[in-house]
Amino acid sequence: MTPDTAERFIKPPSAARLAAAARAAGRALTDLILPPQCLACDRRVAGDGGLCPECWSALRLIERPYCERLGTPFPYDMGDGAESAEAIADPPPFRRCRAVAAYDDVARRLVHGLKYRDRLELAGRMGVWMARAGAELTGDADLVVPVPMHRRRLWSRRFNQSANLAAAVAASAGKALATAALVRVRPTRQQVGLTAAERDRNVRGAFQVPDDRRLAVAGRSVLLVDDVLTTGATVKAATRALLRAGAAAVDVLVFARVVRGLD
Ligand SMILES: [Zn+2]
Repeated sequence: MTPDTAERFIKPPSAARLAAAARAAGRALTDLILPPQCLACDRRVAGDGGLCPECWSALRLIERPYCERLGTPFPYDMGDGAESAEAIADPPPFRRCRAVAAYDDVARRLVHGLKYRDRLELAGRMGVWMARAGAELTGDADLVVPVPMHRRRLWSRRFNQSANLAAAVAASAGKALATAALVRVRPTRQQVGLTAAERDRNVRGAFQVPDDRRLAVAGRSVLLVDDVLTTGATVKAATRALLRAGAAAVDVLVFARVVRGLD
């Protein structure tokens, strides 16, 4: 036996390995009591949760090729840095927008689970996916800011799902989170059921950077986070408020977006 193998033979397991074994045992125990479920359909899944294979394959991830500006998928590769006709005809106030997935069945169940079923553990997972889908944006961001709720709605709903997602994105990307950098200064109607023009009107002037936060925003590259993008009216209004306060640029990262003409 060489000194080397002798040492290996008698060397006690490292503290790290003991801790890992304890964690694994703990996880086995919680799995026994609460087997991990698919985040979208509650089917049992192996490992530490996530999506079941069916939901995972049904989730329509948005990947390149897409419009560099709006992040809307292209049917075929249009070359590096290509922008959609929509982005050129009607440039948004934000610099870039990215989303993890198209807002259809599975994405909707995840968003609703977070929003209406208080499944806050979803935010952590969704935030990690968002940070991955928006890696270029998080890389350039100085500050992560959620689309805020009006305080009256926050009071009745108890939490703002966009703030939970923003916190998860910021933690995953190692960026500063600024939940109070933007406020909703007037209550707005739910955007559901409104036309694009009505949505624009509904949120115009609804957001503001409070005076005591202007310094934190001025000159910074801000990553604005929301759960879902439909027409973009909300994130555009929020972007304008951040730019008015002197933000150098605003990028938008959402979990899901409505994608037309992809079906
Ligand atoms: Zn599932």
